[in-house]
Amino acid sequence: MLAFVSGASRGIGAACAVELARQGCDVIINYNKSRAAAEEVAKAVVARGSKAMLCRMDVSDPGAVNAVCSELVRMHGTPDILVNNAGISISGLVQDMTEDQWDALINGNLRSMFLLCKAFVPGMVSRKSGCIVNISSMWGQTGASFESVYSASKGGVDAFTKSLAKELGPSGIRVNAVSPGCILTDMCAGYSEADLKALADETCLGRNGTPQDIANAVAFLASDKASFITGQILGVNGGMVI
Ligand code: NAP
Repeated sequence: MLAFVSGASRGIGAACAVELARQGCDVIINYNKSRAAAEEVAKAVVARGSKAMLCRMDVSDPGAVNAVCSELVRMHGTPDILVNNAGISISGLVQDMTEDQWDALINGNLRSMFLLCKAFVPGMVSRKSGCIVNISSMWGQTGASFESVYSASKGGVDAFTKSLAKELGPSGIRVNAVSPGCILTDMCAGYSEADLKALADETCLGRNGTPQDIANAVAFLASDKASFITGQILGVNGGMVI
């Protein structure tokens, strides 16, 4: 099995790449800026007995995705598993957000998924099999103050996931999303200790999540154990949203 993980140089994507390798997948590790970190992820994948391919590409850039993914398909075939994880976060009052920030969030978090699906779905449809796991956010379900645009991008991810599940199910392709709560990665670096404690206190389990918590859910949804699950948004948030 071949998996493609977008934004796999750090955080949740890196954990997904290594967990999928543990389950026996070869992994294409996409990154944009963090080459050295992506190389470390590749070493971890290889250490688990799988092949690792590094792929630099800005997944929000249509030209780059079209060119690089065509070459990937030519060299390795269409991936069996697509994990759409790459994303960014920008916080602020809606009246302070710029149109450029809107574009960066929508393109980085939502257009990127559309572009990667356009690149890989045709091969999955021809093969009549495939699995797509999108990384959403609990804020896409609940909305978040100071995160209206980020939340809108993730609400879009949820709707895109459900729609694609309906469109691609007849072709034997499952499409699901994992919707994380607060996960301790670089994305949360802006939170103070007090903020993180307050977020942990809002969960039923009294803690924030780890990248491995999300990787476990992604690997499950990507596996045959989830063969009757599609169109679902799986919350992995310690019970913060029920
Ligand atoms: P992170 O630690 O900031 O890592 C982001 C990753 O995405 C990096 O590998 C980065 O690559 C990559 N990336 C960003 N823009 C990219 C682009 N245009 N093209 C290619 N790669 C790009 O973030 P994270 O916390 O792991 O977040 C991963 C996903 O989980 C995101 O979709 C995020 O919205 C979602 N999420 C996170 C949390 C949380 O609390 N952490 C909660 C809910 C949802 P480079 O460094 O190589 O540029």
